[in-house]
Amino acid sequence: MEMFIGGRWTSSGEQVDVRSPYDGRVVGRVPLAGSSDVERAIASAVRGTAVMRDLPAHERSAILKRTGERLMERLDAIADLLSREVGKTIREARAEVQRSAGLFSWAAEEAKRLSGETIPFDAAPGAEDRIGFFLRVPVGVVAAITPFNVPLALAAHKLAPALAAGNSVLFKPTTATPLADLELVRALVDAGLPPDAINAVTGRGSTVGDAIVSAPQVRMITFTGSREVGRSLTSRAGFKKLTMELGGNAPCVVRPSADVSRAAGAIVRGGYAIAGQNCISVQRVLAHSAVYAPLIDEVADRVKKLRSGDPLDEATDMGPVINGAEAERIEEWIQEAVGKGARLVTGGHREGTLVEPTVLADVPLDCRVSTEELFGPVVAFYRVDDLEEIVRIANGVDYGLQSGIFTQDVDEAFWLARRLDAGGVWINDVSTFRVDFMPYGGMKGSGYGREGVRFAMEEMTEIKVIAWRLR
Ligand code: NAD
Repeated sequence: MEMFIGGRWTSSGEQVDVRSPYDGRVVGRVPLAGSSDVERAIASAVRGTAVMRDLPAHERSAILKRTGERLMERLDAIADLLSREVGKTIREARAEVQRSAGLFSWAAEEAKRLSGETIPFDAAPGAEDRIGFFLRVPVGVVAAITPFNVPLALAAHKLAPALAAGNSVLFKPTTATPLADLELVRALVDAGLPPDAINAVTGRGSTVGDAIVSAPQVRMITFTGSREVGRSLTSRAGFKKLTMELGGNAPCVVRPSADVSRAAGAIVRGGYAIAGQNCISVQRVLAHSAVYAPLIDEVADRVKKLRSGDPLDEATDMGPVINGAEAERIEEWIQEAVGKGARLVTGGHREGTLVEPTVLADVPLDCRVSTEELFGPVVAFYRVDDLEEIVRIANGVDYGLQSGIFTQDVDEAFWLARRLDAGGVWINDVSTFRVDFMPYGGMKGSGYGREGVRFAMEEMTEIKVIAWRLR
């Protein structure tokens, strides 16, 4: 496939293969952009800001609505691509295309609602003679840099609000999974988006990403990816606005009054979807002694029934992880935990990129499964009874994206919810629940700024005051 620069589909000399993480087959091929490609894309995006400034909200809205419709018309083809390039199951891939289309139709609505407020100038002595208001104006060029695990929906989370708010977008998907993303660009173009309003370049983070991050014409970077890349990017971004959606190590607290079956079902759905490669994946379960053993038994029973294998097979519940190096790393972290005293309840091994869905119990706090983002199909159990101790352990990591609490005790639920470091806390559900219009984002090493269409639009606009001085 080709990149989209200056209103044209274009290639470059060097190409890179996009391979299926399941069987290594080539799914597609994209250009490796060079510095002149990035320069042309930036120049086009700058032109795009003027075009977008003149495009009224109702027209932006109509384009976004049509983009969602285009995605739905091509659902099967894009889902197939997504399943092959990411290795996620075809059912997960279809759901991601539907979700992405939904994001565009939501943004189509929000495009019509972007507004400011009147300012009560007469509340200040000396300013009684003014009447005015503030507007939300686009920041200009928004660069969107995205990861491999949910490539289409996470791109939609950036492109849809950026365009709804009247910005132009410079989009850099990851070279690991760029194909469905380029189909999204095609959908935008087919929907009538003015050419310079969207530019998409494919290439390595270290070259293309770096050139985008340091370009002064780029006014904002909306980044989803690892904490490490996020940190290095922040230090080079200069005066740009930044939204950072980074990693997680989500806790799930299960109290004695919890419905164990309900909790077990949610933990399995939340811990092993996309083979655990989800920033809000359930990674640590802090369970009370009264429910610890039955909860682990039920989770393990359900996990043993998960069918892993060919992502394109309708019966597959879990596909591979993104590459062999990641599979090896995950296996190594499991072994480290076991070496330090964790009990392997089920799983623990891998065949190529297929990592067995794994349950670990009695996990020590000083191994990487406990402290870092695992990003694989592993859930770790900790026996913790005391509420203060739960807060200490849950918050004892440099992440804070979302968390879950299972209890029937309302006081206890809210006591915990107020204390957990997280951008979102779910009571009687796990960290993976999310609707795309709610505010979503992290604390600490999980990042800053919020997504969710309306909230992303606020991040992607500046406030401008306009006032009239009366005679
Ligand atoms: P990554 O950080 O390796 O890459 C993300 C993007 O950054 C890619 O497009 C990559 O090419 C680019 N990049 C790499 N180096 C760069 C540089 N020097 N300058 C500019 N761009 C550069 O992440 P990944 O492995 O693709 O994805 C997994 C990570 O994403 C996990 O940590 C996961 O938690 C995180 N994630 C977070 C959220 C969230 O909403 N908070 C959602 C999904 C994934």
